[in-house]
Amino acid sequence: MEIDLKKLFESDASERLDVELDLSGVELGGAKPFCAPVKVEALLRGFAGSVELNIRAGYTVCMPCDRCAEPVTREYTREFSHTLVRESREDTGELITVPGERLDLDALVLEDILMDMPGQFLCKEDCKGLCPSCGKNWNEGSCQCGAPQTDPRLEILRQLL
Ligand SMILES: [Zn+2]
Ligand SMILES: [Zn+2]
Repeated sequence: MEIDLKKLFESDASERLDVELDLSGVELGGAKPFCAPVKVEALLRGFAGSVELNIRAGYTVCMPCDRCAEPVTREYTREFSHTLVRESREDTGELITVPGERLDLDALVLEDILMDMPGQFLCKEDCKGLCPSCGKNWNEGSCQCGAPQTDPRLEILRQLL
């Protein structure tokens, strides 16, 4: 959704928003992780020609585990803040320039959430993964195919050495 910030840029007014964003079409690594609407509480405050934005986002991520491919559903609540400006004199990376005084809230929240996503998505910290030879899920027990069972974390170390 788009938010018109004109009024906030021109006064010290504030605005509270309680919205649900639909990010279900967003793809990440071949999956569509945002299986439920993203709940966003946003507080916008005009301040000296800029707008302070505080976001609390509640979202559910549904992704296959990176090691065993079992579906994992996890809920998060995260807070993000930004300073929005009409035009940026310096590019500090902390100021977000809002063209036309209209904020694309979906895009901003999505960016915040993606920046916050873990590099690896696991069903559990010590997920044993799948046997590379027979495909058996090692979390459910060892397989009979004779392939040596290795801890995937040690395997990464071994490859580095
Ligand atoms: Zn797993
Ligand atoms: Zn096996």
